[in-house]
Amino acid sequence: MSLLDHLSAKLAALSAQSLTRQLRTADDGTAPRQRVNGRELLMFCSNDYLGLAAEPAIADALAEGAHRWGGGSGASPLVSGHSAAHEAVADTLAGWFAPHIPQARALGFCTGYMANLAVVTALGDEHTEIFSEQLNHASLIDAARLAKAKVTRFPHVDLDALRTALAASTAKVRLIVTDAVFSMDGDLAPLPGLLALAEEFDAWLVVDDAHGFGVLGATGRGALEHFGLRSERLILVGTLGKAAGLAGAFVAAHTTVVEYLLQAARNFIFSTASPPAIEHALLTSFALIDGPAGAQRRANLVALQVRLRDGLMALIDRHPRLGWSLTDSSTPIQPLIVGGNAEVMALAAALEAAGLRVPGIRPPTVAAGKARLRITLCGTHTAADVDTLLAALGRAAAAQEQAA
Ligand SMILES: *Cc1c(COP(=O)(O)O)cnc(C)c1O
Repeated sequence: MSLLDHLSAKLAALSAQSLTRQLRTADDGTAPRQRVNGRELLMFCSNDYLGLAAEPAIADALAEGAHRWGGGSGASPLVSGHSAAHEAVADTLAGWFAPHIPQARALGFCTGYMANLAVVTALGDEHTEIFSEQLNHASLIDAARLAKAKVTRFPHVDLDALRTALAASTAKVRLIVTDAVFSMDGDLAPLPGLLALAEEFDAWLVVDDAHGFGVLGATGRGALEHFGLRSERLILVGTLGKAAGLAGAFVAAHTTVVEYLLQAARNFIFSTASPPAIEHALLTSFALIDGPAGAQRRANLVALQVRLRDGLMALIDRHPRLGWSLTDSSTPIQPLIVGGNAEVMALAAALEAAGLRVPGIRPPTVAAGKARLRITLCGTHTAADVDTLLAALGRAAAAQEQAA
């Protein structure tokens, strides 16, 4: 059939460029150790940055929530899906962000993809111009495509280029949209500078803190706490499937913004609310993030980041001919840029043979020629785990250099 032939040709083209992606099935376990095909792998790939997904207290809270509330929520939030557990999660988050956003209110979503879609499509109407950072997450790019607003992209962390674009704008409303921590590079957006431009040009600043929530800031509130920001222009999106160890997402913003989302965001209105048991368990996750466990794991993450970066820099110095490099990252996302697609997949395979799971990331997720190992750290990794990774990378680097 020619329709199938058409797809087969596209699949063959992906394969010829070493761009085929593969779905792998874990037998059990979660970060930092998972069993795959019967073998235990030490993982440096999860976004569960605090290791909370494996926390017995969270499994207990999920079970307790399920016994109290049953399975699914059964309807969208405005029909009958909004429970006391959903409300308690939103109240907790509103309290957490009150120091950063005047009259803060929070609203829950099933995923971060959905939360981004809601904010950008509801606020990005035909009177609006969206200023979208070059390395924004795919969900923000898709949201901007779906919005009726004009979309202007600005180069990565380039405040001057953004200023020029803002100055040239004739739109009634301006919406600056950025990741706080860039998901494939691990670097931070210059949020104080972006907020200053938002003030100067009377714009909203949408901050997607998928990788900062739980991780950055003394109490894990994320990028707003890290930079000490406060403004009613801030619209924060956080995800709850990464450092919070469960699932879901939220928007925290001035109460008027949140009220408008509730009235206007079609994917909030027309989609089933998350299971209340997950919301119930999120309250346990928040207590852990806020308490001594969270503080201890954040401190461990910082120590591991330094250990890993020092080790990777020494490795790059020992093998200059490979042309590997690091990014300017001070977060648990520590990519090793390798370059070619085939090279990075060979490296990932060599690591897996050594019992390590580290994903190779290729275009279109990253730019062509910038394929990388996306190494992520978890607050429950040990220094010995990092040393195991560095030793295996050292052996793989020597082998690749010899083959080259
Ligand atoms: C993971 C991620 C999302 C999507 O969140 P989900 O809850 O996984 O849908 C959005 N933005 C960024 C920057 C992310 O890394």
